[in-house]
Amino acid sequence: MSVRVRMAPSPTGLIHIGNVRTALFNWLFARHHGGEFRLRIENTDTSREVAEAAAHIQESLRWLGLDWDGPVTFQLDRMADCAEVARRLVDEGKAYEDEGAIRFRMPDEGATAWDDVVRGHVEFPNEKLEDLVLVRSDGRPTYNFASPMEDVWDGITHVIRGEDHISNTPKQINIIHAVGAELPVYAHVSHVLGADGKQLSKRHGSVNIDDFRRDGYHPSALMNFLALLGWSYDDKTTIMSRDELVERFTLERVVPSPAAFDYQKLDWMNGVYLRALPPEEYADELVRFLREQGYDWDEELVRRAAPLVQDKIERFGQFAEFAGFLFREIEPDPALLDGDTPVVAAARDELERVEPFRAAEIEAALRGLAERLELSPRKAFQPIRIAVTGSKVSPGLFESLELLGKEESLRRLSAAAATSAA
Ligand code: GLU
Repeated sequence: MSVRVRMAPSPTGLIHIGNVRTALFNWLFARHHGGEFRLRIENTDTSREVAEAAAHIQESLRWLGLDWDGPVTFQLDRMADCAEVARRLVDEGKAYEDEGAIRFRMPDEGATAWDDVVRGHVEFPNEKLEDLVLVRSDGRPTYNFASPMEDVWDGITHVIRGEDHISNTPKQINIIHAVGAELPVYAHVSHVLGADGKQLSKRHGSVNIDDFRRDGYHPSALMNFLALLGWSYDDKTTIMSRDELVERFTLERVVPSPAAFDYQKLDWMNGVYLRALPPEEYADELVRFLREQGYDWDEELVRRAAPLVQDKIERFGQFAEFAGFLFREIEPDPALLDGDTPVVAAARDELERVEPFRAAEIEAALRGLAERLELSPRKAFQPIRIAVTGSKVSPGLFESLELLGKEESLRRLSAAAATSAA
């Protein structure tokens, strides 16, 4: 079967993750069938903002790994074609002029129905359908006219879109019938909701694809996660590569019930993907992420720190908090060091003698110190960790000290010993 689908975003700013999920379903469906995935911008004006939003949409899709076929098309480029069809419909008595606009005559009796791949048989009584404006008095076509016409002109075989468009579908079907074209198959996918059952919005966390990128999610993990919002392969397989998703995706396994967006599951999944990356690639991506986010941290040091964090953080966005002490000044909370000043001072003196200043030698020295002080390693190392990293949670202490370097480590230990003693 040769299929052709499309994503038809309105260029109104950031792309909501729910729409990205719908785009992904379209893309998976197209790739699964060896068909085409088109990108069509549903613009109602042609301002600079539209151009920027269109560029942003493309950049976001590319980042996620969704490639499209053919050129990006713009709805307003077909204004004249729409006007021509509208005039023809007037000539045929299927539409009429009304205060400068052109309205479509919806049938008054019977019902408009379709077999939705996701929702089954859907039927609307025609008496509920108002006569639809096709072309406004200023000459611009409406969404409900231009969209189905573009589906016809582009040879779209399957319209896979959000359930918010279900009420538009009977109108669009009547227009497609009126122009004598063949109907596409419709598949209306459910909304993506937050854990509280409400439409996913800012208050749940990240909602725009940019937010997820900024938080340091890996595009492959996000793709995997989004694919499982309302679709499943066999109810138990969670981790699937891009190729596996393409191979396994079918619309028949898309469910009509709303999908709940579980941020914890996404974090877990992202961690799985990040840990599975070859170390070199992990470092490359971490460097790229930090650069993209505007950090000017020493690349060499980031690369050396990468193996220390790969198993520990679930998102690249956590790197700054977790390992930022390597790149910037810290201010340990004196309360956290209360009573531990002697250990910090002793560690400083001990480490001053360590040469070379490498993790193994550092570890031996600090373990020796703990023994002499008759402290458990945990008890002895925690204040040292706080003194050099500013936090109770950090990458491995000995490796961290090595990366920080002897001079800076000693300086931080001295400072911590002095502050908390005061
Ligand atoms: N422009 C519509 C939207 O962003 C898409 C309409 C469609 O897919 O038919 O929701």
